[in-house]
Amino acid sequence: MKKVLVLEDEANIRSFVVINLKRAGYDTIEAETGEQALEQLQRHPDIRVALLDIMLPGIDGFEVCRRIRAGNLKVGIIMLTARTQEMDKVTGLMTGADDYVTKPFSPAELTARVDALYRRLGDGEEETVSQDEISRPPFLLNTRNRTLKKNGQLVKLTQVEYNIMKLFMGNPDKAMSREEILESVWGRDYFGEVKIVDVNVRRLRVKIEDNPQAPRFITTVWGYGYKWSI
Ligand code: CA
Repeated sequence: MKKVLVLEDEANIRSFVVINLKRAGYDTIEAETGEQALEQLQRHPDIRVALLDIMLPGIDGFEVCRRIRAGNLKVGIIMLTARTQEMDKVTGLMTGADDYVTKPFSPAELTARVDALYRRLGDGEEETVSQDEISRPPFLLNTRNRTLKKNGQLVKLTQVEYNIMKLFMGNPDKAMSREEILESVWGRDYFGEVKIVDVNVRRLRVKIEDNPQAPRFITTVWGYGYKWSI
């Protein structure tokens, strides 16, 4: 059964969403707070799509989205935005959401978006083998045991370095700003200097590049950040 997580603190909106998703053939897991949503995702690893409300009593929907993305790139995320402001959409998509639906929405619109995202993700059945791995030869990242191999050899990484590698390998050829890397790896609440990104990238290069002085995999985007190529 296709499982969808519904994070919404307002009970009437939540049950409206749940009823309509069930009618469309989905199994639903409900959460009232962001914290609950993250727990439910841990408990039900077969959830493929998460609907996230933004305004919540505890951590907000953007933060939930960031945390999901920091740990799992496979869950499809649709933000339920209350306002029509462009900023919400942009912030949502920046934090790793796949789509957004603006409230108030019709049952048809909601299920159409969920169906579309499910289609984009594939049904996952034949993907199970590769779900825990991101392969970009000569690199192979295993997200289940959090290891990186280069040409079949284990590369010893700190957890932070691993998280940066996961971010890079999940976003090939994308120029990423230092701030973006900082936010997705260290979290929004991190108040340290952005320089920590450079420090870790320098260390990573020593570990993964053939020639750290002339990096090929992690290249510098001058005045901006870094880009993973391969
Ligand atoms: Ca709300």
